[in-house]
Amino acid sequence: MRNKNLGWLDERIGSLKSFDGSLLGYVGSSRNINADSGQVLRLDSNENFFIDNNVLTSLLAEAVKSIDLRLYDPSGIVELREALGRYVCVPPRCITVSSGSEQLVDLVARLFLEKGDEVVSIVPSFFMYRKRVELEGAKFVEVPLNGDLSLDVDAILENVSSRTKVVFICSPNNPTGNQFGWDEIRALAKESSALIVLDEAYAEFGDFSVSSLAVKERNVIVIRTFSKAFGLAGLRFGYSVSHPELSSVISEVLPYTVSSLVAEFLVRLLSQLDIVEKSVEKVKAERSRLIRSLCALDRVKVLDSKANFVTFKPYEKADLVCQGLSDRGILVKDLGDLPVIGHCLRVTVGLPHMNDCFLDSLERVLNQG
Ligand code: PMP
Repeated sequence: MRNKNLGWLDERIGSLKSFDGSLLGYVGSSRNINADSGQVLRLDSNENFFIDNNVLTSLLAEAVKSIDLRLYDPSGIVELREALGRYVCVPPRCITVSSGSEQLVDLVARLFLEKGDEVVSIVPSFFMYRKRVELEGAKFVEVPLNGDLSLDVDAILENVSSRTKVVFICSPNNPTGNQFGWDEIRALAKESSALIVLDEAYAEFGDFSVSSLAVKERNVIVIRTFSKAFGLAGLRFGYSVSHPELSSVISEVLPYTVSSLVAEFLVRLLSQLDIVEKSVEKVKAERSRLIRSLCALDRVKVLDSKANFVTFKPYEKADLVCQGLSDRGILVKDLGDLPVIGHCLRVTVGLPHMNDCFLDSLERVLNQG
């Protein structure tokens, strides 16, 4: 095997890193951690600790009892699309379900891109778009956000050429945390013929969702996830909202991607939305407290947030601050030196005691110089 010529493994694919964590920049110790164990505070992945795990597991147990896993049974997916349609106020035929929203990003890239195509996106934003686009051999064109972190709609439209197939916009944006205005998004959809992909992974923590636009405009797809507001990152569930024409294409390509167990469980969860709504309110309240406390330190620049994370820029060296926190068992995301915002760190809005612990440690690290 060692000397075999792996001709099928071309350079583009062979250079990919495996999904062992290195791709996402996770530190090794963040794997196999019980988030409630208190050993390591995992505040680097925008997970939601406000949803009670016991509530989720008992709903899951009820779901297990009520289905027959031996069957190919699409009825659960039909019910789930109906429940999601009620949740986002769109007809169920506009919904497509998937194993996590990243699968939808991947699918958009695979379905609509080929070598030589172009994709326009903003910077800084979610790094995964570039990875997926380049995997298809397409060119990724980045347009910087304005200094106030708003969308430079004119620059985006100027960069949309006849080769541009897709425009990726994340709103609320990871990692800047701000949500772009309705008018800007609508202008992009109306004035461009490219497919506008709106990643709304954090929409529940923001002020609104643009889902209804996706129902009206044939070139818009909104991607949502249950990993954030619903606290189900490990379950792997996402969905898209788009014109029925587009959603039937996507559903056709992803026929049995969500299990009947997951469908049954999520229908039950969606009938008890107060669980999620209460957790979102708590995240928002903690987010305000975290932002206020970070500002009060007077040693970091803090970005406002409409998501379940807060991005901040230490006046000291950010990588050393990140390392100092990690030495104290607190994982935050080192975003690296990014255009427009510089070298920032991103911290998940955790439970109050987690945030206290993070703030206390950050103050100590900053004081150490
Ligand atoms: N979009 C954005 C903007 C994200 O930040 C993330 C995860 N951090 C995802 C998508 C992936 O979500 P999922 O777990 O549904 O694949």
